[in-house]
Amino acid sequence: MQNKRIFLSSPHMSGNEQKYIQEAFDLNWIAPLGNNVNGLERELAAYNSVKDAAVVASGTAAIHLTLRLLDVGTDDTVFCSSLTFVASANPILYQGATPVLIDSEMDTWNMSPKALERALGDAKESGKLPKAVIIVHLYGQSARIDELVEICDSYGVPVIEDAAESLGSTYKGRKSGTFGTYGILSFNGNKIITTSGGGAIISNDEEALKKSRFLATQARDQAVHYQHSEIGYNYRMSNIVAGIGRGQLEVLDERVEQRRAVFARYYEAFGNVAGIKFQPELEETMSNRWLTALTIDPEVTGVSRHEIIERLNEENIEARPVWKPMHLQPLFEGVAYYPHEKGNSVSDYVFEYGLCLPSGSNISVEEQERVIGLIEELLAK
Ligand SMILES: *Cc1c(COP(=O)(O)O)cnc(C)c1O
Repeated sequence: MQNKRIFLSSPHMSGNEQKYIQEAFDLNWIAPLGNNVNGLERELAAYNSVKDAAVVASGTAAIHLTLRLLDVGTDDTVFCSSLTFVASANPILYQGATPVLIDSEMDTWNMSPKALERALGDAKESGKLPKAVIIVHLYGQSARIDELVEICDSYGVPVIEDAAESLGSTYKGRKSGTFGTYGILSFNGNKIITTSGGGAIISNDEEALKKSRFLATQARDQAVHYQHSEIGYNYRMSNIVAGIGRGQLEVLDERVEQRRAVFARYYEAFGNVAGIKFQPELEETMSNRWLTALTIDPEVTGVSRHEIIERLNEENIEARPVWKPMHLQPLFEGVAYYPHEKGNSVSDYVFEYGLCLPSGSNISVEEQERVIGLIEELLAK
């Protein structure tokens, strides 16, 4: 029989989720909203030290709503990190707006301040600044967010932080997702905590979040009859799903510790191997290490990331390349792209050599040692 599959990142329940779900059943608050939705919003705002949170059906929906809040339409451009999951950029297309993709820098794998500065300079010169800049915190590592926000501020452009992967991470002691006008979170099944599916917007702008709840519930006007003046969505999170979120949020800090411990074990094994470089953790930042990600240079190690993925897969272990950058996607063909420096696209490099290892908070030490052993065997060849 094959070994039990080891996933990249799988759901890890706390055991308290059922209590909140039971409460919803007992009160017959199955739908639409209720205690758990209100509770999760309150608890998320408190955890992140912001004034408010609005919980919705997915992280993607959260991004879409923030674009609506910023009034993004068909004549607008929106800047976005190129090295990310497609969900960061898709909502730009939902609004019929034009994306401009920004490269990463090596120190964080996240948005390059140099590339952003160039792109904004060009945009200003052409008389058309973007309506928003979406900045992603990849695999839990914060971008140089204060520097990036400062650049955007100097052009008067609002920032949306895509903190889908960085819930629980900090930058200079402050929670990831709380530096821009809006931060978005995801509770998808593979994230550090999950509600099976869900997301949130966090912000200090309570009025805006009120508006987001309105848009997320079909934008129904104040009237007894059903009246609508603008386009709305069915994006609200259900009270059952929010119950799972409350049970998960209780153990978030524990999950961060567990993921960091997984990272530390990989680092101990491969941190000194020539040709292997782990995604850096900037000074004054704390990454939740959602996924342990590294680059491996086959010219130096003699092993490609492809060989590692194949070998692990033979043993029923899931490993993956890093996200394929948006500027290399057929979907975004022809879209403007600003590399870190002319002739130096950092995200191309990270994509070509990058590898994500199984990083779930529920991977056992034994399982992780098996993964490490298999990679060691390849490296020794
Ligand atoms: C998961 C993810 C999202 C989208 O979240 P969903 O809840 O799956 O819609 C957005 N951005 C990034 C970077 C993600 O990893």
